[in-house]
Amino acid sequence: MLNDQDIIDIRKDFPILDTKIEGRPLIYLDNAATSQTPDAVVDTISYMYRNLKANVHRGVHTLSQLATDKQEEAREKVRRYINADSTGEIIFTRGTTEAINLVASSFGGTLTHGDEIIITAMEHHANIVPWQLLQRNKRIRLRIVPLNERGEIVTEDYEDLFTENTRFVAISHVSNVLGSINPVKKMIEIAHSHGVPVLVDGAQAVSCMKVDMKELDADFYAFSAHKMYGPTGVGVLYGKKKFLEMMPPYQGGGEMIGTVTFEKTTFAGLPYKFEAGTPDFVGIAAFGTAIDYIQDIGIDNIAAHEDRLLKAATEKLQQIPGMRIFGTSENKSAVISFLVNGINSYDMGTILDKLGVAVRTGHHCAEPLMHRLGIEGTVRASFGVYNTMEEVEQFVAAVERTAKMFS
Ligand SMILES: *Cc1c(COP(=O)(O)O)cnc(C)c1O
Repeated sequence: MLNDQDIIDIRKDFPILDTKIEGRPLIYLDNAATSQTPDAVVDTISYMYRNLKANVHRGVHTLSQLATDKQEEAREKVRRYINADSTGEIIFTRGTTEAINLVASSFGGTLTHGDEIIITAMEHHANIVPWQLLQRNKRIRLRIVPLNERGEIVTEDYEDLFTENTRFVAISHVSNVLGSINPVKKMIEIAHSHGVPVLVDGAQAVSCMKVDMKELDADFYAFSAHKMYGPTGVGVLYGKKKFLEMMPPYQGGGEMIGTVTFEKTTFAGLPYKFEAGTPDFVGIAAFGTAIDYIQDIGIDNIAAHEDRLLKAATEKLQQIPGMRIFGTSENKSAVISFLVNGINSYDMGTILDKLGVAVRTGHHCAEPLMHRLGIEGTVRASFGVYNTMEEVEQFVAAVERTAKMFS
């Protein structure tokens, strides 16, 4: 368990947290959009640019080999972090969005008219629109898993959607709006009993819980480095070898080929078949440092600390008259979406910003979910490892003050 002194020490790794907004200390509660980056990660980036800037996999020269080693070390760190079988199953992408697009485009190519894909009502646009793009050319049907009042998936409702035409399931592990931690292990089991592979959007999960590919048995798993204290522009697609091997490349170019002639080109083995062009090897190396950072603190310690903040914030917010919290799942990550009375989320967010509190407002890239909730948007506070109990108190006081201003 992290104590107050641990958090004080952790905060020293994030100088951005000393920022003042209109003279007040910044209270950064937008971690579900992107988390801040510790100095160690920034140091890796500058180290790579200063000392190891050489293109990977292409040169015999020493720098190129060292840069390649850094990239491949990071791949091994990711493999271990999610307990995948082999580094061939770890494909570096630009982020969760690109990882899902890769699967929709490459695996999706095998789908035909009448096939059905199951997604849920809480998906981020990144796990809706790529499947809709597939529908442009083919009459593929999306079937949507409903949610109960608490913002949870009821596995019976999910299982009811399977038909003989179901070909794929794409579900989020943790909702970026509701915080619901979905029963993905069970959902994967059900899909597999129907012979259907599953992609899990893990963008909100990897920073706050242990994620184990062998235990989950997910066929694909997508996530972004920037939401786990890492750099922007880097993400991962985990895929089971048996699928990745049969899937065609996503993009063509350098790095992903075996041999090229004008008559015929063969492709590289995994994972390089899916990594066309010069990868962001600087960001990838820094991502490796971010994983080290998380593991030094301990993912269970991070989860316990964030859960304590979530419970305290929820309890205090509920005492504000007119407070409506969206997403009250038993099993919840440290995200609170709410509205007070009829106050527009954007208006509240603007005032909170003046008070130093950074929250997200609006539809959070999940417009279909907003429609189902019958609202336009919410104010969303999301916690990270460096947030403190004092910040929770200041945040709740700021919400209270804002609510009074509008009443
Ligand atoms: C942030 C997020 C994404 C998109 O991640 P990018 O890093 O923008 O590609 C997808 N799904 C969920 C649940 C997210 O929170």
